[in-house]
Amino acid sequence: MITAAAHYKDRFGHKMYKAAISLDVTCPNRDGTKGTGGCAFCSAEGSGEFASSCKLPVSVQIDEAIRRLARKVPADTGYIAYFQSFTSTYCDADYLRTKLNEAASHPKVEAISVATRPDCIPPEVLDVLSDTAKKIPLYTELGLQTCDDKVAADFGRGYETRVYDEAVKALKERGINVITHVIFGLPGEDKDMMLRSVKYAVDAGTDGLKFTCLYINRGTRYEQLYNEGKIAVLEQQEYFDIVSEALRLVPENVVIHRLTGDGAKKVLIAPMWTADKRRVVNYINRRFKDLL
Ligand code: SF4
Repeated sequence: MITAAAHYKDRFGHKMYKAAISLDVTCPNRDGTKGTGGCAFCSAEGSGEFASSCKLPVSVQIDEAIRRLARKVPADTGYIAYFQSFTSTYCDADYLRTKLNEAASHPKVEAISVATRPDCIPPEVLDVLSDTAKKIPLYTELGLQTCDDKVAADFGRGYETRVYDEAVKALKERGINVITHVIFGLPGEDKDMMLRSVKYAVDAGTDGLKFTCLYINRGTRYEQLYNEGKIAVLEQQEYFDIVSEALRLVPENVVIHRLTGDGAKKVLIAPMWTADKRRVVNYINRRFKDLL
């Protein structure tokens, strides 16, 4: 495995930070195409809690994100325009092309990352992504979460795991970098099942991985189940024990982009250990010092 920091340093020559962007999109799990309530863990903002309003031009959103980050990052930092909220490719291909071009032409943006679902990459979107990748380094982030179709159906993922395989293949054929999101702690999964998803993504050919624990967010279906005591969350040590085992399955060429997620405090109900970011970072630095 290689860390994201080492990968960015090698590829761009310096640190890279993400400037989160929202597009005016939703996702098929919300608009009735595949469901209406969203995945059972997904907050109302579809992971877009860190971005500016989707109504603002992309260049303005990037400026605002850079301003927010400026106090925390070194002066020679590069930026990745991160299309994060909902399903960023669940839109008209021309709209997507315009927005990606706007990001690519921002003077401080050196790469683009697009978060999406494997079932939302039709041929015309694949063409847009492929054209974008010819202009600027492009990462595509796929929310697999688990390779177990039954667990995925329970939280309402809305596509079968074979669709992920097809998407990875299509993206890789076009030379597009793929990052796979995996959640540890989904209801119905034991440790072996979680590790199987990591192995599955690696075998499918993912270039990178992002791990996160299951969050219980306000206003989600899991909130109710959690409050009723029907589902639980992982404790910090439990979670990082699984991460530690997962890392052993990751080959040298695969980039670890994230060991744990960044839950949005305004909607977070559990696990509360994730809210103390400084403590979590210290824990990671101590525990994984030989790897990071
Ligand atoms: S996690 Fe992604 S696919 Fe699921 S409801 Fe949220 S935005 Fe849609």
